[in-house]
Amino acid sequence: MDANTFVLFGATGDLAKRKIYPALFNLFLDGKLPEVFSVIGLGRREWSDETFKANIERSLHSFSRREASDAEAVTKFLSFFRYHVLDVDRKEDYQSLLKLIEEREQALGAEPNRLFYLSVGPELFETIANHIQDSGLGDTKGWKRLVIEKPFGRDLQSARDFNAQLSKAFTEDEIFRIDHYLGKPMVQKLHLLQQTNPVLQASWNNRYIANVQITASETVGVEERAGYYDHSGALRDMFQNHMLQLLMMLAAHLPKGDDSEQVRSKKKHVMQSLEPLLRQDVATQVVRGQYTSGTIQGKPVVGYKDEAGIPQESQNDTFIAAKLQIEDDFWRGIPIYIRTGKRMKEKATRIVIEFREPVKQVSNTNNGGKPNLLVFEISPNEGIYLRLNTEGEAQQQDLTKVLIGSHKSGSEVPEAYENLIYDALRGDSSFFAHWDEVELSWKWVQPILDAYAANEVPLYPYPAGSFGPQAAHDLLAKDGFEWWFDR
Ligand code: NAP
Repeated sequence: MDANTFVLFGATGDLAKRKIYPALFNLFLDGKLPEVFSVIGLGRREWSDETFKANIERSLHSFSRREASDAEAVTKFLSFFRYHVLDVDRKEDYQSLLKLIEEREQALGAEPNRLFYLSVGPELFETIANHIQDSGLGDTKGWKRLVIEKPFGRDLQSARDFNAQLSKAFTEDEIFRIDHYLGKPMVQKLHLLQQTNPVLQASWNNRYIANVQITASETVGVEERAGYYDHSGALRDMFQNHMLQLLMMLAAHLPKGDDSEQVRSKKKHVMQSLEPLLRQDVATQVVRGQYTSGTIQGKPVVGYKDEAGIPQESQNDTFIAAKLQIEDDFWRGIPIYIRTGKRMKEKATRIVIEFREPVKQVSNTNNGGKPNLLVFEISPNEGIYLRLNTEGEAQQQDLTKVLIGSHKSGSEVPEAYENLIYDALRGDSSFFAHWDEVELSWKWVQPILDAYAANEVPLYPYPAGSFGPQAAHDLLAKDGFEWWFDR
């Protein structure tokens, strides 16, 4: 892997502490960092290198997947890091940063490859990107890359404006947009499972699939993010990005190998083939919900409007369920149901593929069997299950759940950030959100934003600890289906 400098804006912040340092440390333990590597942490706080390193070490002890118990390894790891005070608005700070980077590059004999990781609020992205360009930081003989976190805009127009600004300083190939759902190992494996298993490949189409259900449910409420979340909601926070990315990864017939251009084009095809949602259909195809008080794992919790920092009159969505259709030869006619919400009964991200019932089709009588299901458990645990009818006709209430491959619990699964940072360091953008996908996602979602803003969609209450409003169950019942695993 190329030697490079990892320039981290927001090095004193929460994301760096909880995700980025532990991910880098685990990559280091796996021998997946470049041999010549340097990290420059940036923030306004007047920290010394020692304070910075002490903070990183603490973060490893609190958040690393693997224990940071080998003192020699920790010392070697910490030797990569330097700290530099930088206020994103102060031009001169970028000049001194450039000087520090060049000194480090020279001292280490490293090529001038620079990865700029923006772990700061999105309102700072544009300023930083402009200053990277003005200051000469991006003017390097090696490569340069920009890694950013969502949100990428608030709606279609703001996303376009935002992208136009970034594009002045970085080309699309240089921009790595993190959607951490794309870093989850099971999501990265979805296409391989299809390609390497003829039985799945053969049945991965509208001849055999009755419907697809994609769920990402959380048990937590807004936590400390009320200010952000009340202006975002489930639609912007989860659906436009993570949920539509999961759909793309499932539905795109991705190529073998890591040809990121092909991945881009196949995912774009999925978004272009999504049947557009008309504003007048939003109220029948989309369910908007907000949690009320209830019980989560035996503990009473308050409703959304009683959370600290949330106004009593808030109409914000903490839940969304939607029905989508892909108009192409593989998926035509298969309803795809997506839902995500806070304060739901369980924490789980899973995809369920429900197969058609062949016996019913042939003889028009149901022999009592239930449909086969293929289940991808994405997080917190990982596994693939097939539900088969294995008993005689009389007693088929319970289906056998066959585990395919290995089941991994949370701590064994590499963190999404490990996979994503590793790919960004290698320059492989296959598992990042590309601009076309981001733009097409906002385009699909825009009628929902408009209908919500005009209050054309009911806001259904649902008790904390449930699986969402009744209307979300009715959405499937209208088509003769039900959400699986709502127990
Ligand atoms: P945070 O804890 O508030 O940290 C913000 C960082 O930005 C701090 O290091 C702060 O450093 C720096 N900063 C703020 N203003 C600055 C300025 N004018 N000049 C230079 N540095 C400045 O935020 P966070 O939770 O780490 O989130 C960072 C980004 O990641 C956000 O875009 C967030 O939406 C996204 N994100 C976060 C999470 C998460 O789990 N936390 C998850 C997904 C995405 P100083 O205070 O030292 O200046």
